[in-house]
Amino acid sequence: MVALRAKDDTVKVANNSVVIKEKDNYLNNKTKNTSLDICKKLQGLSLKNVSMKLVENNKVIYEDFGEMLFTHFGVSGPIILSASAHLRKDYFQNVKVIIDLKPALSQEKLDARILRDFEKQKNKAIKNSLNDLLPQKLIPVIIELSEINEDKKINEITKQERTRLVNNLKNLEIEIEGFADIKEAIVTKGGINIKEINPKTMESKLVQGLFFAGEIIDVDAYTGGFNLQIAYSTGYTSGLN
Ligand SMILES: Cc1cc2nc3c(=O)[nH]c(=O)nc-3n(C[C@H](O)[C@H](O)[C@H](O)COP(=O)(O)OP(=O)(O)OC[C@H]3O[C@@H](n4cnc5c(N)ncnc54)[C@H](O)[C@@H]3O)c2cc1C
Repeated sequence: MVALRAKDDTVKVANNSVVIKEKDNYLNNKTKNTSLDICKKLQGLSLKNVSMKLVENNKVIYEDFGEMLFTHFGVSGPIILSASAHLRKDYFQNVKVIIDLKPALSQEKLDARILRDFEKQKNKAIKNSLNDLLPQKLIPVIIELSEINEDKKINEITKQERTRLVNNLKNLEIEIEGFADIKEAIVTKGGINIKEINPKTMESKLVQGLFFAGEIIDVDAYTGGFNLQIAYSTGYTSGLN
């Protein structure tokens, strides 16, 4: 299990030069954020009680709820690490993480909540009116992704802009390019096949007097102490024998 690298908006071509993909222009001629840009802006932000979908080729392959973290290279934290266990290095196509920042509220309820908040602060700029809803670091990012001028007053926000805001809060998309470096990994898949080990002694069935314990065995689990338990139990059993 390892953190995930966010995609940048660049395409490598055969002659080793790098072509920057044309970026969509919108409000105030700002350029659109790449997933890596978003993660860099949110670097260090840890989110609790968010839900996350891991989507590969438009298919949801893993869902989780809990804690995650934005880093300078992408996303990490418990739910991301668990999600990474469902990806294969040799097949990494069209992968994205979709984060629901407000999982306790449906789209409609969130919209109603935002409307209520807006009602109370009609003359404020949008950038100063989302403090009750979001951590400080997320506010400019979500406003920008929603294509709203951050200085726009609340009473000038259109329904379309509010809808985009709600959409981004419920579906913050981070495109994933690949795994972070193996050095960042917490648990690795692969190793000695359990069918080749006597579980009562941890001795190899193929080589007499050879015992296995911990990571070298082809067993891996989500974080939460399970891998440590595997290491302790197999180590203890090997030691006894
Ligand atoms: C940052 C991090 C966070 C983690 N968090 C969790 C968690 O929250 N929950 C969980 O269940 N698991 C977690 N894990 C995984 C868990 O720590 C491992 O699964 C477990 O420690 C594996 O135990 P092990 O004894 O097999 O290997 P290790 O703990 O890696 O021990 C192997 C030892 O062998 C030594 N060694 C290596 N090569 C040689 C050599 N040639 N000669 C002599 N010594 C050598 C190493 O220095 C090391 O001390 C985490 C791992 C990391 C890296």
